Amino acid sequence: MVILQTPKQFQQYRRTIPHGQSVGFVPTMGALHAGHAELLKRSAAENQVTILSIFVNPKQFGPREDFQKYPRPFEADLDIAEACGVSAVFSPSVADFYPDSFSTYVEENALSKPLCGAFRPGHFRGVTTVVLKLFNVVRPNRAYFGLKDAQQFFVIKKMVEDLNLDLEIKGVPTVRENDGVALSSRNRYLSSEERERAPMIFKTLTRARDQILSGADPAKVCCEQIAVLEQNGFRVQYFEYWPQGRVLAAAAYLGITRLIDNVLIETTKQTRVSEASPESTI
Ligand code: AMP
Repeated sequence: MVILQTPKQFQQYRRTIPHGQSVGFVPTMGALHAGHAELLKRSAAENQVTILSIFVNPKQFGPREDFQKYPRPFEADLDIAEACGVSAVFSPSVADFYPDSFSTYVEENALSKPLCGAFRPGHFRGVTTVVLKLFNVVRPNRAYFGLKDAQQFFVIKKMVEDLNLDLEIKGVPTVRENDGVALSSRNRYLSSEERERAPMIFKTLTRARDQILSGADPAKVCCEQIAVLEQNGFRVQYFEYWPQGRVLAAAAYLGITRLIDNVLIETTKQTRVSEASPESTI
């Protein structure tokens, strides 16, 4: 496994990959866990070469968010990458990726507006900008994204479609702990007492999904589940059905930690289709 730091170094390496070999790409901010590993394994199974990027992207963090304290366990990440069959890791510095003169941004203007977009101004602009830059450096045939960040997945798919990028975007189902908590690099911020309460997000989402699928009014169901979360000390930002992604999605603070999660909510036929092939949901 090779580790490349500057975009130029990576581009030199990229030119050594033979033309016929397919390149799978998993962009991350590091602090890898079993969710990231699932994306990497999927890429390694479907491509001859798998590239991992590790870059904590300052442009997707708000001024009061956790950019500085975001975990950066680089050596442990390399061990996981190696075990998952990664061929090369691209890990640029902020200065190399965004020199002071940097002045070009890319923005999706529809799917990025509700949900997280409403509470994190500029977040998706930072995501699409960094992902497009990474795509240009890595030039993958396929790129893998977690459906845990469902809105991000759909925004990136839309950017790829709108800008005619020649690659496939693959969605990978959310990897969870046994108690339902979606794996996230930010779970390590939770105190042990908060961690015990964390499964409530997935529980309320699945309860709401089941009620909606049995015919209950989505707005009423969501209100009830927001109340349940708030009674248990969560500060809910949103808990709503997002028709564009056909997901029921939630974001809530537990202490200082912001957690997001979602569940697919579709008719029986659609659920079967998207569970078999989540990348075909748009
Ligand atoms: P991050 O490092 O948090 O930016 O995540 C990098 C990629 O891993 C994104 O495509 C995420 O959606 C995906 N990811 C994060 N957590 C999970 C999870 N629990 N299950 C599946 N994919 C995940």
